[in-house]
Amino acid sequence: MKPASIAELYRRLAALDPEPRSELAYSTPFELLCAVVLSAQATDVGVNKATARLYPVANTPQQILALGEAGLREYIRTIGLYQTKAKHLIRLAQLLLERHGGEVPRERAALEALPGVGRKTASVVLNVAFGEPAIAVDTHIFRVANRTGLAPGKTPDQVSARLEKITPAQYRLHAHHWLILHGRYVCKARRPECWRCPIADLCRYRPKTPAAGPAPAAGTLRGRPPARTRAARAQ
Ligand code: SF4
Repeated sequence: MKPASIAELYRRLAALDPEPRSELAYSTPFELLCAVVLSAQATDVGVNKATARLYPVANTPQQILALGEAGLREYIRTIGLYQTKAKHLIRLAQLLLERHGGEVPRERAALEALPGVGRKTASVVLNVAFGEPAIAVDTHIFRVANRTGLAPGKTPDQVSARLEKITPAQYRLHAHHWLILHGRYVCKARRPECWRCPIADLCRYRPKTPAAGPAPAAGTLRGRPPARTRAARAQ
């Protein structure tokens, strides 16, 4: 995609949602880190339900350790892979206390050295908790980047590196959220909703999905909750 089209794509997504927020509920970097670890192969809604019960009881490394692995499992057992994730969170809490005084580190290498934390999780924490312009690539962003031609790549790491290279500086901080929300609510996996897509003329995907029913009113994004609602949920 040409630089002018890339800039226009981001300009439109930014105009629709100038201050995008994570859909994971958190109030501290540690809560965010745990939520992102729990969100692997799980929905944000499912993670938020579990952490709404867990965090009032334990939301620091010390409290997670005091809960113990068996105790922690009881709070997160509705989430896929909860047994492995409970192990990771206990070890992660131990390492944060041993190596970082109980704080979440701001360095990628230190984050990726923690159990259950790969490049994607580290990028989300750096971006959302610390305002770093890292672009984590999940399944939604991987799909959007390839379908549109914005940043094609065979692996999430390739797409992430390409996105970080081609995204104009002023859009890098929020690029992760704009692309993830676009993939989740408009450019859906099975049936992208091209007929109401704000970037359809810039996207190289063919053939475009036609509208099944009456066209939505101009300027609306049917099926996508308004930005204010999502932000409120994330607080
Ligand atoms: S036009 Fe269709 S395929 Fe392209 S970004 Fe929009 S919804 Fe996705």
